[in-house]
Amino acid sequence: MSTTTVFLSGATGYIAQHIIVQLLSKGYNVVGSVRSQEKGEKLKSTYGEQFQYVVVPSLDQKGAFDEALKQHPEATIFLHTASPVTFSSEDNEKDILIPAIEGTRNALQAIYDHAPQIKRVVLTSSTVSLADIDDFQIPSLKLNEESWASVTYEDGKTKDAMTAYWASKKYAEKAAWAFVESNKPNFALSAVLPSYVFGPQAHDAEAKGQMNLTAEVFASVYRLSKNDEVPEVAGPFVDVRDVAKAHIVAFEKDEAKGQRIITSSARFNAQSILNIIRDKFPDLREKLPVGVPANGDVSEFVRWDDQKSKNLLGFEFSDLEKVVVDTIEQVIRANK
Ligand code: NAP
Repeated sequence: MSTTTVFLSGATGYIAQHIIVQLLSKGYNVVGSVRSQEKGEKLKSTYGEQFQYVVVPSLDQKGAFDEALKQHPEATIFLHTASPVTFSSEDNEKDILIPAIEGTRNALQAIYDHAPQIKRVVLTSSTVSLADIDDFQIPSLKLNEESWASVTYEDGKTKDAMTAYWASKKYAEKAAWAFVESNKPNFALSAVLPSYVFGPQAHDAEAKGQMNLTAEVFASVYRLSKNDEVPEVAGPFVDVRDVAKAHIVAFEKDEAKGQRIITSSARFNAQSILNIIRDKFPDLREKLPVGVPANGDVSEFVRWDDQKSKNLLGFEFSDLEKVVVDTIEQVIRANK
């Protein structure tokens, strides 16, 4: 068991909750940053003694993480998961781009200025950093750890909020690598790049009501009624528990230093999720539409050249059936 302390930004998040569960089970102590005391107290009551929280109200204020890190000189690992995860906004730059990009710079600057004992930093980036929105529907697309989306900051500012999210992840990750390049800090940086993250919430109680963006995408399938159209959504996915595990591997393994680690299992579409629910949960069949079952036979469009990431991680990703079954079982438990 380890007594290492891990600082985790965005501790309330869907992925972060799984990271906390896995860190605590491995004996790490966790200091989580949250936006309010109320959110911190809720986490504290869930996780107990091995968990502490600090309030960092806004990612984009200069020095945002300074006090939090000064208060926790015991933290030697920093996981930066906090970032806006939304496909809607009133002001793309203010709501999405600036918190993502400046939040990343502020975190790294605070470590550099106030926490020289931090030796490993893991940034939660995204496969959206690798390629543009439409690229993911191109059968000949080939992606590897060196790929970058071509979306510009200006696109993110002026187009729809989904484009802003894409640009926010690309430019936040670029800012992190540039920071390391120009400041030569004490820490090694690694980036974890998940595709659409699906799978159960870390705690059953959170499987009711409004969830995060991608859990809601998934829920838009199991909440369908008999006569509804099957949504068009499709893309690559990964199990949230695998993403959490990848964050831990990213700071535990030396060979992860300086690496971009792609975490993506396979391709899904809404019909493929629906087919599994209808097959594995006969009691739900009557309530759900049939759709066009043959459309659920999705083959992967993107040709992932991600063996480097897979070798580094050293574990297999869960398939869609496991993700669907575990998620639906949790929804059933949560609504009993
Ligand atoms: P989430 O549940 O929405 O978590 C986002 C976290 O960031 C929350 O703790 C949230 O705090 C915090 N946050 C958001 N905007 C903020 C702001 N302006 N200031 C301060 N804190 C802010 O989403 P998630 O899926 O776990 O995402 C975590 C990370 O994974 C993000 O960096 C995201 O880009 C990345 N990612 C997610 C996916 C996916 O499919 N879900 C895929 C690839 C990468 P509150 O709880 O207070 O709102």
